[in-house]
Amino acid sequence: MLTQYHIEIMLASLGGRFSPRAMSAIIQANVGQDRIAGQIGHDEFHFDNNAFEKSYAYIEEKRALVASSVSSGDANSAWQAFGRMTHTQQDFYAHSNYITLWLDRFDEQTPPPPPEVDPMDPSLIHSPDLHSGKIYFPFELLYFFRSTRALSLRILPKDSHAWMNLDTPEQGIKFDYAMQAAIKRTVIEFEKTTDGFSEEMCRLFLDG
Ligand SMILES: [Zn+2]
Repeated sequence: MLTQYHIEIMLASLGGRFSPRAMSAIIQANVGQDRIAGQIGHDEFHFDNNAFEKSYAYIEEKRALVASSVSSGDANSAWQAFGRMTHTQQDFYAHSNYITLWLDRFDEQTPPPPPEVDPMDPSLIHSPDLHSGKIYFPFELLYFFRSTRALSLRILPKDSHAWMNLDTPEQGIKFDYAMQAAIKRTVIEFEKTTDGFSEEMCRLFLDG
């Protein structure tokens, strides 16, 4: 997803729970994952290239880092780790066909509205049909420039990131479902991460 949408998801999901200082650090770490160095060779940051296991392992590694950082009183490290893991989780809905599989269950003409999307249907998360967009270098690069986007889509196969992504509203109605699913999932991840935190740990993490 583009930076502005990651920011929108963070604010819509958890904007009221963290102090502005904490939220700003979390958002900076979240959107920092899309820097060039975070795009190349880091499928696990973005659920790209069917790197499901690696992405889940990355999220759990960061979740453990949030807890250990909070325990040792290092709020900044905790915010960074939390920002990074939420980026990955949010990209799941933009880079995999989860939303397509979920919508396939309904009549094409009358799908439930986007806020009703279930972000964690176990039968879809573990479905053999679940896959994420492949990055085909160098042609995928052409997709990022408006002038060569149409050309890239003629060259790239349908299982590419270029064809599959729900990164922007230009991708149509499915983008709204990806946004709503990412907002819901971010709240779920927050609750899972802070489950078991003492009052003191919550105070440090939320900075409130
Ligand atoms: Zn990303």
